[in-house]
Amino acid sequence: MSGSPASQAGMRRQNLALVLRTIATHGPLSRAAVATRTGLTRAAVSSLVDDLRGRALLAELGPEPATGRVGRPGSALALSAEGPAGLGLDIGVEHVAACVADLRGEIRVTVREEAANRDSPPERTLPQLVAVARRAVEEAAGLGLRPVGAVVAVPGSVADGVVVRAPNLGWQGVPLQVLLREQLNDQLGDLPVSVENEANLGALAELWCGDGPQDFVHVSAEAGIGAALVVGGRLFRGARGFAGELGHVPVHPDGPACACGARGCLEQYAGERAVLRAAGTWGRESGDRIGELARLAEAGEEAALAALERAGTAMGIALAGAVNLIDPAAVVLGGAYAELAEWLLPGLRRELAARVQVRPWEAGAVVVAALGRRGPRVGAALVTVRRVLEDPVGVAAGV
Ligand SMILES: [Zn+2]
Repeated sequence: MSGSPASQAGMRRQNLALVLRTIATHGPLSRAAVATRTGLTRAAVSSLVDDLRGRALLAELGPEPATGRVGRPGSALALSAEGPAGLGLDIGVEHVAACVADLRGEIRVTVREEAANRDSPPERTLPQLVAVARRAVEEAAGLGLRPVGAVVAVPGSVADGVVVRAPNLGWQGVPLQVLLREQLNDQLGDLPVSVENEANLGALAELWCGDGPQDFVHVSAEAGIGAALVVGGRLFRGARGFAGELGHVPVHPDGPACACGARGCLEQYAGERAVLRAAGTWGRESGDRIGELARLAEAGEEAALAALERAGTAMGIALAGAVNLIDPAAVVLGGAYAELAEWLLPGLRRELAARVQVRPWEAGAVVVAALGRRGPRVGAALVTVRRVLEDPVGVAAGV
């Protein structure tokens, strides 16, 4: 066994992460309880806790009040509501948004602005995004929070920080990580930036925020339709990182031509544009097209109801393939389509029940995401929080 300073520093870094994770999972905990759960000595725990408190990662909750309640005497430790935080950014077709999550995973600040991003070049969209990010960081500073990383959710495919294709933004090959880092750092100082597909982040948010299953398909739509596969509690990205293109799974092989070059893709029946066209509302200059569609369906407007029935049926046909292939515990309907669940789910459930070979397939296995449209940016903020919890020294030091 080596006792070199380097290996000691490595061991201490691991133990800091172990103590932080233990408190994150089981806290609030006293120092003695942390020692019991980790197998570290009480002296070691005290020293590690001092270090973590010095980095504003842990808070001391103070002695329990003498209320007659049976409880462990002494001071309990919990994740800090101040200090290092995660900045989540979100570029939608009709908005830009930023939010800040504290280490406990609570979203403490949200700034959202309407923005006409359809076919908008990055030079126009990014300054708006940076402006909401800056406002969110300023508000967070007032709460004692300091983002140590930014993750941006985009409605498109992403590889190595580059937006390969975001059809509804009209972006192709946009080096978003580099562009955003330059602009953010001008305003906010040195902050690591990463870029991720919005459907993936929406799925991770559902995974991290709820008590739901560890294996599920998360379907979301803002402009296109995206799915994210969570397998064994981890995102399944595929060999090249493009897994989850549910929008281009064929529903009718000889159906209408799709922008991707194929025919009859799910997006031609259940994508936002297709649904709004079928409902007769496409082209209306409404800021919130999905909200408007929900209002029409609520009012019993026939074209809207028929469009949603057709979309739900097509989603069920496409999803049956995915469910038969990977046998998930649940299908989660997220993003803006969570608001249309009432009208999408009957057709979707009916097709799954008819086509899925896993028996019995329960209608209850299709659920509506708790976070809805907020999912992608919440997931984006939580990515950094999770990184801090996994390696508090490395992330804080920018390693
Ligand atoms: Zn297609």
